[in-house]
Formats: sequence, structure tokens, C-alpha cells
Amino acid sequence: MTAVLCDELIETPCALCGSEETAPVLTTANGFYLSRCVQCDFQYYNPRPSNEAVEAYYHGEEFYQKVNITAVEIVMDILAHHKMVPGNFLDIGCGIGALVSLAEKKGWNAVGVDPSPMAGKLGKEVLGVDIVQSYVNDLDFPEDQFDAVVMLAVLEHAFDPLEMVRKVWKWIKPGGRLILSTPNLDNLNYHLLPDKTAYSWFIKEHINHFTIKTHRQMLDRAGFENTMFHLSGHFSVGREDEVSRLNHTDSFLRSARKHFSESLNEIAFKRYTKPACDLNDDQFLDIWLRQVECWDLPSGEYSLSDAVYVSAQKPFL
Ligand SMILES: [Zn+2]
Repeated sequence: MTAVLCDELIETPCALCGSEETAPVLTTANGFYLSRCVQCDFQYYNPRPSNEAVEAYYHGEEFYQKVNITAVEIVMDILAHHKMVPGNFLDIGCGIGALVSLAEKKGWNAVGVDPSPMAGKLGKEVLGVDIVQSYVNDLDFPEDQFDAVVMLAVLEHAFDPLEMVRKVWKWIKPGGRLILSTPNLDNLNYHLLPDKTAYSWFIKEHINHFTIKTHRQMLDRAGFENTMFHLSGHFSVGREDEVSRLNHTDSFLRSARKHFSESLNEIAFKRYTKPACDLNDDQFLDIWLRQVECWDLPSGEYSLSDAVYVSAQKPFL
């Protein structure tokens, strides 16, 4: 990929609250300026490349979204979690249409949209799915049209994520849901990285870097309610630096065992005279919580996964 985002950088106000006051957070290893809105904590590249430069990138032959089977399954789980029955379904940034194809098989009346001509071509050839080639800005649907709208890995690319979510809100039926995913800066690995500038999601096409707090603010402002975070290993650190809540305990433990077993061995031997991988769930949780206190994380909500899935509902009238 040639560097298409290099020349002009533009100062941009916060897309969530409009404030023009940002504080530098860090300069990424590949030269982007991660900044934080001083009003609402939204983190994004500022100054950042122009719209045109980014759009050129999406029209490049190399860009089309890979089929992410895990993501497709997670969306199906979230639909099931909310007991949603098949109706009208829109997948924005659908890539080659894997989710559109699966949703159709499950009885949804599904439409997929993606700006990449390559995605449309492959979708037709590989999955037999018709994909509307468009950016969200150029799209128009009647109001109250869809029961479910999905935006996986879209908003971190968007120049105006709040505007985009507001537009989508209109297309959703009252009581219908938006399901989205983005990378999540509130993940433990990021907070524990010795050199954050080299974090793997600080890439040129990721302009926005969401946290749980800024997702919640964005969705509230757009008029959604019942916002829910579907995270692997979700926990919060309270004001007294206590772990005050653990959700999704099974997946949390699986993920913690996978990522942190080795680093917990010392404490495991001290307390239980065996390695962390040989501890039962209660023992593992016990030493993990002790370790979290040592990490001295700032108050907030964290996950073990670097992605966050969010669902939010448009209120009934
Ligand atoms: Zn802001």
C-alpha cells in the first residue's frame, strides 16, 4: 500500500461534542497524532489526513474487508441475546457480505452496503450477494425502515462518527437496534504496553479510537438507549482502585487464562505452590484480582479483548 495519507493534515474539532480543544496523547510510531478532546475525552487523530486521501485508500484494489467469521457469529449472538425476530436488516461496511448472506439464511431481509468496488465484485462472485456500493453519506433510506442495523469496524474510519450514527438512527424502527464494533482502547493489553505508540491498531485508516465512555456518549447524543457492551472479560476499576464488577465470567476467565497465565506464575506459586494454568477458576480469579491491584489502573472499564461490540436501541415512540 502506498502512502496516500501523507500530504495535508487538517485540524478537526471533536466529532462527538464539537470542542476545538484537544490535548496531545502520543505520536504513533507511524507518525499520527493521537489527541484527546479535553471536554469529552474522545480520542482521535488530530490533525488528521483529508477526506479525499482516505477515500482514495478505500477505492484502492487492496482494500476489502476480510471475512471475519467470529464477528459474524458475535452479531448473531447479540441478535439472539435481544430475542430479535427476523425483519429488515442492514449491514453497513459489509465487506464481501458474509453477514448479509448468513442473515438471509436465517430469514432476515438483508441489505449490504460497502464503498469498496472490490467488495461488491467478490460478494457477487463468492457469495452471490448483491452489495450496494456507497458511503453512508451518500445513502438514503426511508425513516423507520430497519429492525437491525450493523456497523462492524466502521466508526473508527469515519470522519464524523456521530453524524453517521444519527443518520442511521433515523433508518431504524422504534425499538430496533444498532449493533456495532470498533477497536477498544479500554483494553488491558493497551494499558499494560510499555510502548503505547506502537499499539497495533494505531494505523492510518483508524482515525478514531473509542473507549467505552466515548461510545456511550456518542450513542446517548444520537438518541439511542439501552446501550450494552458485549466484551470479552469486561471489568471495572472503581474509584478506590477496586475491581468492583466482573461480567461475562466464563469468557473473561478463558481470555485471562490465555493472555496472563504466564505473567501470573510467580504470584500463583507463592500462594498456591503451582503454576497459574493448574489453578481452578476461583484460585485463578483470586490471583488475577491481586495482580490488577498491582497494575494500578486508572478508574474505568476495561476488557481483555481489543474489540468492543456495542448494541443500542432506538426508543419506542
Ligand atoms: Zn469532545
